[in-house]
Amino acid sequence: MTQTMYFALPKEYREATGDDLKKRISLAKERLGKRAIILTHHYQRVEVVGFGDAVGDSYGLSQIAASRNDVEYIIFCGVHFMAEAAYILAKGGQQVFLPNPLAGCPMADMAEMADVMEAWKTLEEFGGDKRIMPISYMNSAAGLKAFVGEHGGLICTSSNADAAYKWGFDKREKLFFFPDRHLGYNTGIKYGLKPEELVVWDFSRDEGGLTEEQIDRAKVILWKGHCHVHTNFKEEHVHETREKYPGVKIVVHPECPHEVVKLADAAGSTSFIVKFVADQPAGTPIAIGTEINLINRLALEHPDKKIFELSGKTCPVCANMYRTTLNDLAYCLENLDTMKQIKVPDRIKANALLALERMLEVH
Ligand code: SF4
Repeated sequence: MTQTMYFALPKEYREATGDDLKKRISLAKERLGKRAIILTHHYQRVEVVGFGDAVGDSYGLSQIAASRNDVEYIIFCGVHFMAEAAYILAKGGQQVFLPNPLAGCPMADMAEMADVMEAWKTLEEFGGDKRIMPISYMNSAAGLKAFVGEHGGLICTSSNADAAYKWGFDKREKLFFFPDRHLGYNTGIKYGLKPEELVVWDFSRDEGGLTEEQIDRAKVILWKGHCHVHTNFKEEHVHETREKYPGVKIVVHPECPHEVVKLADAAGSTSFIVKFVADQPAGTPIAIGTEINLINRLALEHPDKKIFELSGKTCPVCANMYRTTLNDLAYCLENLDTMKQIKVPDRIKANALLALERMLEVH
């Protein structure tokens, strides 16, 4: 996350009651009418999603951001890289806001540009652009997206990672995948690669901690990033859940470690999880391995099914997604003329746009 300023809401917003905030948000929405759209990620608080014009995963919300040329303001209730992507995809003149400017993504922050450039310098000795296709997960800063775009690669999300792998391998011999090693590994195994063809680039070690032979033999070089929410889920949670709830269906996000994905009944993006739950017959116990706010919302939306969090022990909350409150949303909607917009420098924007446009074409 590039925005490090300290941000505190004025007292009148911090101390407003829930009812007051709801009234103010409704009035502001009415006043703005069709000039503004509120996009809410699946992991947002239930009450924030309630005010969204659309709810979805980062892929779905990017598609909306790219297509809604008619609105002046895009209010992105999510984390920083999502609002940045919306800005890159928006047409000139549209303004993008992140209601809580401190909402970042620790996984995206694990791929620092200086480390990426150092790694690429080594990989150039192994063929660089001629042999290696860089692919970045959406959860990355605009600078990394621009690097990928400049080198002919694309952005993927958990919704189109399979298609992104096929696209990359149709063009080049190897992939360099950022920043989530687990999504990269799970997608590689699904693609049919052998475990030894997937190696992890440890950015804290010289040459990524890999030998020349390992790099040369690898089909995918995975950046050593992870999501601290999804790596909470362990194999034993799957075994314990199956024992305790006979007939349970287990669905997890592919940011979970492979041992968990392998044992689950299904794995997929947040939109996939939403559909998976909807498709199960009434009465089915469903254990979900993803962020708790989505699980809680699904439980509310499907009272006829027993929906619960897979680990049963940890609280898999994304503190950054949780940062955005009704207080932030009210402040944002009432102060669009003074609130800091999310922007990306033009030279980064142009290359990042190439990578994001490829993402929207590949699914
Ligand atoms: S759930 Fe994980 S990957 Fe998603 S925003 Fe939070 S920290 Fe980042």
